[in-house]
Amino acid sequence: MTGAIQTIPARRGKAARVAKGRSIKVINTHGQQVVDTWAFNAEDLKEFMSMEHTRAFMLKLSPEVGDKFLTNKRRPIITVVEDTSPGIHDTLLAACDDYRYRLIGCNEYHDNCTDNLFAGMKEIGLDAPEVPSPLNLFMNIPWTKVGTLSFEAPYTRPGDYIVLRAEMDVVMAFSACPQDMLPINGRNNKPTEAHFQVI
Ligand SMILES: [Zn+2]
Repeated sequence: MTGAIQTIPARRGKAARVAKGRSIKVINTHGQQVVDTWAFNAEDLKEFMSMEHTRAFMLKLSPEVGDKFLTNKRRPIITVVEDTSPGIHDTLLAACDDYRYRLIGCNEYHDNCTDNLFAGMKEIGLDAPEVPSPLNLFMNIPWTKVGTLSFEAPYTRPGDYIVLRAEMDVVMAFSACPQDMLPINGRNNKPTEAHFQVI
């Protein structure tokens, strides 16, 4: 049975359980929002989707339909089964945190994806054991042959979505990234809500 569409409020986190074999659709509702995404083994939260282990297996920097993400125990945890976005996702950058915003000039507490992960998990009664490097859906961090990276606005359009199938019982966590000091959530630097649905 298809689940209700759930909101990831702007600048906030949300988590949901997804049973093995079910999928979760993550929707870039307004078109320019980066969604930091984590997946944990529901039986053992210390096993989780790992970008480092996945890149060594996938041999690419951005996933395409059919690609599987691995855990820190190198087992498949989610598979990309559909992607209507231009297919630009980041697997390189750590989740933003309060330290990050201090470094780029914010002098007070700033909402951040790290705290959103903990809060989203807490809402469904779970404690995230750590903050794995996230799959940054829709995030446009172009890399060059000389090895440079930059923070750019997404190429996604309103309503673009990606569908991820659970390869084990998982807890998925999401953060509508609150970055408003760099243009990763669009050139207006205005984080928005996003949505997801278990299908
Ligand atoms: Zn963030």
